[in-house]
Amino acid sequence: MRAYKDQHFLTDPRIVARIADILDISGRRVLEIGPGRGILTRALLDRGAIVTAIELDKKLIVSLSSDFYTELKQGSLTIIAGDAVKVPLPSFEIVMANLPYSISSPITFRLLDAGFESAILMYQKEFADRMMAPAGSRECGRLSIMIQTYARANRCFDLPPGAFSPPPAVSSTVMWIEPREPLFPIMERTVYGDIVRELFSHRRKTVKSTIKSLSSKYGREKVEELCEKLDPEILSSRPEALYLEDFATISNKLSS
Ligand code: SAM
Repeated sequence: MRAYKDQHFLTDPRIVARIADILDISGRRVLEIGPGRGILTRALLDRGAIVTAIELDKKLIVSLSSDFYTELKQGSLTIIAGDAVKVPLPSFEIVMANLPYSISSPITFRLLDAGFESAILMYQKEFADRMMAPAGSRECGRLSIMIQTYARANRCFDLPPGAFSPPPAVSSTVMWIEPREPLFPIMERTVYGDIVRELFSHRRKTVKSTIKSLSSKYGREKVEELCEKLDPEILSSRPEALYLEDFATISNKLSS
């Protein structure tokens, strides 16, 4: 019986090596989320990484503690018991994980806020597709815009359900994410985040009717001023028709 959902373990060492070899991690501080039975953890340690792993399942932590007794004692591995969405994050440069898919969204936003150099993360394929959906396309959403604003995301490879035990119902995709400065400068990141969240919470409404609901937070006068400053074509669009530059324009005009 599985104690938690999202417990689909990698079994093929060649796939694990393919993930662990994407970056040179020797001597680097690597955060792993959900080490499970430790197959990826072992590969990261074998490549000379200094690993901190966050695991929720107490039973798995007991077996990890005995399987990695030496590494824990030497300090090349630290295990944090808890929910990766809630526990204080350690300092790290690189994050590598076969993620628990139910926390894909909150953990990705959390990692982007925390900042890192590179991330190699396995997601449900549909989630990765949404991440990559270009601005201005139907599939584009808050996740796509926030990732594409603050990071460069590349698909490394896909994996079928059979690569895991037990097999999940979905295919998986390994993504390489590297934060970068936004292509279109953003005056206030919190305002940008508010705009993107609000617009995609009402994706069937026009920009004009959605930004009016920001009055409670930013004040009616400021929001009316924003509507006057914006191009009518942007105001009459739905969020999925906007380009990255448009989100920056809306947010910067609200900030100025
Ligand atoms: N890395 C292992 C592998 O590739 O075989 C296990 C991956 S499995 C998909 C996800 C792991 O994340 C499980 O060990 C599960 O217990 C753990 N997990 C689930 N939710 C978590 C959370 N909120 N915080 C930390 N770990 C979590």
